[in-house]
Amino acid sequence: MSSDIELTANWLRRAKSAVVFTGAGISTESGIPDFRSPGGVWSKYRTVYFDEFCRSAQARHEYWTQKIEAHVAFAAADPNIGHQTIAKWEEQGRIRGVITQNIDGLHQIAGSQNVLELHGTAREVTCLDCDWRSPVDPFVTQFRETNEVPLCPECGDGRLKHATVSFGQVLPELTLNRALRWCQEADLVITVGSSLVVYPAAGLPEAGKRNGAKLVIINRDETGLDTIADMLIPGSCGEALTAIDAAI
Ligand code: NAD
Ligand code: ZN
Repeated sequence: MSSDIELTANWLRRAKSAVVFTGAGISTESGIPDFRSPGGVWSKYRTVYFDEFCRSAQARHEYWTQKIEAHVAFAAADPNIGHQTIAKWEEQGRIRGVITQNIDGLHQIAGSQNVLELHGTAREVTCLDCDWRSPVDPFVTQFRETNEVPLCPECGDGRLKHATVSFGQVLPELTLNRALRWCQEADLVITVGSSLVVYPAAGLPEAGKRNGAKLVIINRDETGLDTIADMLIPGSCGEALTAIDAAI
């Protein structure tokens, strides 16, 4: 076992307020492509910006068509050993919770309770006109069958959108503030499977480090915060988390 893994396990064992921060890389081992994978939904379609979605029925149709394709990957995915290990650490009281950029809901399915979803969730829809929320599945079915964008059943004709943060849309303020507080109060921040280049999300582990936390980065490729990290663990998220867990 490498000494880096042992040292990280030591930090985690002693931590009083550790936080895990995850990105798309933790879910690739569940079969969901990350942002940069060639051939993924992300590289195939143009981005529908939030303001377009709001004002154009055609853009809403385009958005729903894209989301339906992404939904297939989500619906078939199960949490992997990485999600499970993070859930276990929370249950054992080793971490305060997990801050995620992911919209796939796999942390909750793995059993994590304290999850801050910075970019919302694709498992629900929300009405832009009355704030109503509901599980996404019936609306996916409806769109597939009718090829018409579903309207909000609560207010009658509200614009329904997946409860995710679109490009051009602001992050949920309460969630972002809470995540910032977790990081500022943390003595250890472990980032898993994030390129740490998407802001404001990447600013959170950075804020943790600035306020005295140790920063551990688990990622296959280079990240935007490698230069300030206390520990870099390159390679598979699942393997790294399993190894740390075994060393605790
Ligand atoms: P990113 O795509 O920018 O970075 C993912 C990182 O994970 C990459 O640096 C890659 O090298 C690494 N990686 C991929 N598979 C790995 C593995 N098995 N082991 C170790 N490292 C691995 O993702 P990001 O930082 O989360 O930012 C992209 C944005 O896209 C986020 O805002 C997120 O909301 C969104 N997104 C979410 C999902 C999801 O919910 N699963 C999927 C794609 C994109
Ligand atoms: Zn509504």
